[in-house]
Amino acid sequence: MADDIAERLARLMRPEVLAQPAYHVPDASGLVKLDAMENPYPWPAPALDAALAAWRGAPLNRYPDPSAAVLRAALAGAYDTPPGSAILLGNGSDEIIQMLLLALGGRGGAVLAPEPSFVMYRSIATWLGLPYVGVPLGADFALDEAAMLAAIARHRPAVVFIASPNNPTGNLFDPQALERIIAAAPGAVVVDEAYGPFTDFTVLPWLARQPQLLVMRTLSKMGLAGLRLGWLCGDPRWIEAVNKLRLPYNINVLNQQAALAALARRADFDAQAAAIRAGRAALAAALAALPGVRTWPSAANFLLFTPGAGRGPVVFEALKRQGVLIKNLHGAHPQLADCLRVTVGTPEENHRFLDALRASLP
Ligand SMILES: *Cc1c(COP(=O)(O)O)cnc(C)c1O
Repeated sequence: MADDIAERLARLMRPEVLAQPAYHVPDASGLVKLDAMENPYPWPAPALDAALAAWRGAPLNRYPDPSAAVLRAALAGAYDTPPGSAILLGNGSDEIIQMLLLALGGRGGAVLAPEPSFVMYRSIATWLGLPYVGVPLGADFALDEAAMLAAIARHRPAVVFIASPNNPTGNLFDPQALERIIAAAPGAVVVDEAYGPFTDFTVLPWLARQPQLLVMRTLSKMGLAGLRLGWLCGDPRWIEAVNKLRLPYNINVLNQQAALAALARRADFDAQAAAIRAGRAALAAALAALPGVRTWPSAANFLLFTPGAGRGPVVFEALKRQGVLIKNLHGAHPQLADCLRVTVGTPEENHRFLDALRASLP
């Protein structure tokens, strides 16, 4: 039997995909898990009870409502989206990035994003064979407005992605610079507000005056990461165009009902987000007080920090040996040398992290 699958793959696959490592999710069993920006708190009981009651009557033998009209209306109401805008749902906002690039890429237009930023913009562009342009952030991870405007003029990108707050750096960008960059773009600009629950800043109201703007949100970081629900808001003409290549039943019955149950009781999730914001402030102060440790301001549910030059990977491993998993960003981008990212957990988890970090520093 000929076993030439490796040869066939080398012949059939797009070379840049063949060369990519698979997306790696580290095994967190038995560890304090502070690596993935999850909400550390379980679902509030009223939301869980409502979801379970809805699931009991859910018609699992039937296909879901393909347009998820009730859920889209609930999102528009819960987040006060501007009148005249429309919503597209994705099985996580990762799927929305994929749909956007399937719809808008392919005519040679590039995908452009500041860097370091969320890795899926580059990964999905690469999987689809689209040219990708990363524009380095400036000092302290601020947007380099001049570099962004020059790159936009030069590459005429089909889609610009800007995460606000940015991942993995946690900061918000200067709103005026952001607005000028959106105005200069010849294609679509997606502002990715995945960390919306942890900041009061949102560009949703800008949709009324910036027709090339699309705002992407997710319920993952608020506490629904296991369900997978992302949404994109913008001019109905953008939304209808991208919706053409959405797989018809991408949001399953259980997901639609659970998300409705959660949105109807959003105050309980907001209370969890408030606790996470308070934990972020406490954790930032504790980190800043440690000798040799530098941290950056964060408007998200995580903190970027460095334990000092030459120490990032060593400290990451020492934390893991003590049962605490965070994210090692050393090697991910030149501006992230020796940088680590920790998700804000419960107060107990934050203490375990800080104790382990103290024991890992010289
Ligand atoms: C986590 C994250 C996402 C992914 O969200 P999902 O809805 O869970 O796919 C998107 N954008 C940014 C910037 C993120 O950090």
